[in-house]
Amino acid sequence: MKQETNIPYKIYLSENEMPRNWYNVRADMKEKPAPLLDPTTGAPMGFDDLKAVFCDELVRQELDNDTREIPIPQAIRDFYKMYRPSPLVRAYCLEEALQTPAKIYYKFEGNNTSGSHKLNSAIAQAYYAKQQGLTGVTTETGAGQWGTALSMACAYLGLDCKVYMVKCSYEQKPFRREVMRTYGASVTPSPSMDTVVGRKILAEHPGTAGSLGCAISEAVEAASSDPGYRYVLGSVLNQVMLHQSIIGLEAKAALDKYGITPDIIIGCAGGGSNLGGLIAPFMGEKLRGERDYRIIAVEPASCPSFTRGRFAYDFCDTGMVCPLAKMYTLGSSFIPSTSHSGGLRYHGMNSVLSQLYHDGYMEAISVEQTKVFEAAEYFARTEGILPAPESSHAIRAAIDEAMHCKETGEGKTIVFGLTGTGYFDMAAYEKFHNGEMHDFIPSDEELEKSFARLPNLP
Ligand SMILES: *Cc1c(COP(=O)(O)O)cnc(C)c1O
Repeated sequence: MKQETNIPYKIYLSENEMPRNWYNVRADMKEKPAPLLDPTTGAPMGFDDLKAVFCDELVRQELDNDTREIPIPQAIRDFYKMYRPSPLVRAYCLEEALQTPAKIYYKFEGNNTSGSHKLNSAIAQAYYAKQQGLTGVTTETGAGQWGTALSMACAYLGLDCKVYMVKCSYEQKPFRREVMRTYGASVTPSPSMDTVVGRKILAEHPGTAGSLGCAISEAVEAASSDPGYRYVLGSVLNQVMLHQSIIGLEAKAALDKYGITPDIIIGCAGGGSNLGGLIAPFMGEKLRGERDYRIIAVEPASCPSFTRGRFAYDFCDTGMVCPLAKMYTLGSSFIPSTSHSGGLRYHGMNSVLSQLYHDGYMEAISVEQTKVFEAAEYFARTEGILPAPESSHAIRAAIDEAMHCKETGEGKTIVFGLTGTGYFDMAAYEKFHNGEMHDFIPSDEELEKSFARLPNLP
């Protein structure tokens, strides 16, 4: 491994170099993201409309398009110290294997038990629920990273945590479920008999394996039918992206410390929280006209919200009960093929990122899952870390950019977000290794069908 004498393998910040504020990129946007709309009246939603479902302070953060810096409460900063700062790693071994002149860095968020960046927002959301004197929070989880992160945060603060877990995941990922129960969460397979919506779905589709949309509807109902509970969500919302800005702020501080300026910043995109968090301070500089970067979102070819979606108002959930958001969407009735196992299966995208993409501040590409797992395996073998399939979308794009640099001889600096580890995704790796993984790309006809069901709004 050839190491530059002045750049360590891992760049860490000291405790007092850690960010004290989250950065709200909306403050620097000339074109603000469109407001959330009430699904029944079509009117913009304000504080009073949202506070029955979400915690008060989180509603304020959700609606705040103007405050640039929002202080991170001391209790959250203390919790962050348990697993942050996360390292910014120079991928010297990967560079050498690729024989590329590019310099590759990754910000690794997998160093906590939840195995992903989701803990950054889970602790913030649990903290504000606790501050408000609530008993607990409800949520849904699919793959399980979010449910695990939230369970950890709730255990730390002494809050009750009710997780509705999509039934097929509940059965296929018993270990995820047990991690959540270790942290004291109650985990219910969804659809369940506990809620009106769950009973209705079970009556209509007996034996269904469940879906994320259905689990969301159950979690929202459970929260709204008990005044001591609120619903919390691990991605898509602006508040989540705000909390995740800790990733980008730390990354930028670490790069600045060594005088490194990235040329290209890459993140995988499901609902947009890690990407939005990683790019936040860099995007801020770009929006203020101080510096330019190439920013690339990477999504699965089987669920291509940015690259093939419409920029339109749509439901955030399949049950069509949540607010309408203006975003790049494949339509809330779109469900990626069951053969897709690489995560990032949400039909829409955070509305801030959608606006930024629409205004030309970032690029997006889509990649097929076999290419993603090829990159995942290559990365595991060169850098040692077993990456989450979601994160591996970013790895794929980083490797492709580095190979492009090899052709052109340019020593560009690439930073990508390595959002988590893949220990609970070995069934997907197994399929890949057995040659049983296939690529799935939805046809235009399929997408048209789901676009046709978009709500009729400007
Ligand atoms: C949830 C998750 C993602 C995708 O969510 P975003 O909100 O788009 O960041 C990516 N990587 C990992 C490891 C995750 O758990």
